[in-house]
Amino acid sequence: MNGGMILDGKKIAAEIRMELRAEVEAIKASGQRVPKLGIVLVGNNPASETYVNNKMKACAEVGIEAVKIAYSPDIAEQTLLTQINRLNSDETIDGFIVQLPLPEHITETTILSAIDRRKDVDGLTPENVGRTVQGLPSIISATPRGIRELLARYQIPTAGKHVVVIGRSNIVGKPMAILLMQRPYLSLPSMSAASLGDATVTICHSKTQDLASICRTADIIIVAAGCPNLLTAEMVKPGATIIDVGINRVEDPNSPRGYKLVGDVDFEHVAPIAGAITPVPGGVGPMTIVSLLQNTIQAYNEHSR
Ligand code: NAD
Repeated sequence: MNGGMILDGKKIAAEIRMELRAEVEAIKASGQRVPKLGIVLVGNNPASETYVNNKMKACAEVGIEAVKIAYSPDIAEQTLLTQINRLNSDETIDGFIVQLPLPEHITETTILSAIDRRKDVDGLTPENVGRTVQGLPSIISATPRGIRELLARYQIPTAGKHVVVIGRSNIVGKPMAILLMQRPYLSLPSMSAASLGDATVTICHSKTQDLASICRTADIIIVAAGCPNLLTAEMVKPGATIIDVGINRVEDPNSPRGYKLVGDVDFEHVAPIAGAITPVPGGVGPMTIVSLLQNTIQAYNEHSR
């Protein structure tokens, strides 16, 4: 393939895991307990189970203790809230996440709002999001944090650039846009991303008109829509950086599973004209998981040590 440099999230995430492992080893060597993450899983959605297993595996690799706390799909909202409060006051747990999506009878915002912000290592509580918006120290949601780290490690600056974010979800699009437009002093001290931010950000979504012409003015495009082939070559300015967040299952009779995972970008045609591009899989996904580990160690360092 000519053109775009591949932004290898798998490789960068492995490097970060090595760094985190050294950090956890040092904690152990000093005689303190290691950081501990709780993962709440409600029901038996197979995709969620895969994500949870990947997170547990990543924790084991760096020496973070991880516990899966599984509940049946018909758990009452009130019971789940009681369990969340238990985790909030459990001093042996430094951070926990509630794997999304939740069953329909449970209101996601009610559950997320109940998490103590200091333990909210997915960075999804209204308090953490509000603090991020205001530039106060906060835990940043894992996918935007991972994308910021990926851009930083590949030394792709955002200052003064026009970044188009496609998607306005609470977990990716909105926090991503906030981070990109922030003044860089808001970055976490532990991040090499100190120079990131200061971008001019356009947020697009399903009601945006003429997405193509907006995208053609972008230096960086971050696509988080969940639509295969949404971003095509005609929508991309030559040399632009493309970050593909999408994870979509599409039928593939050649795969033993009967499907393959693709992103939101027409990779085959966009990669040759892009300046840099993330693959799916192996781009944003591994960075998201490693950001959860970073957030867990951050929570440990800030509140448990
Ligand atoms: P979501 O599914 O909650 O919402 C999708 C967003 O995309 C909406 O804001 C919608 O307005 C916008 N959108 C949908 N179709 C569009 C179109 N045709 N044109 C413009 N905008 C459109 O979003 P989400 O939870 O952020 O997930 C988005 C995708 O990213 C999904 O495929 C999800 O699986 C994936 N994801 C990946 C990771 C990762 O680690 N790689 C993390 C989170 C989400």
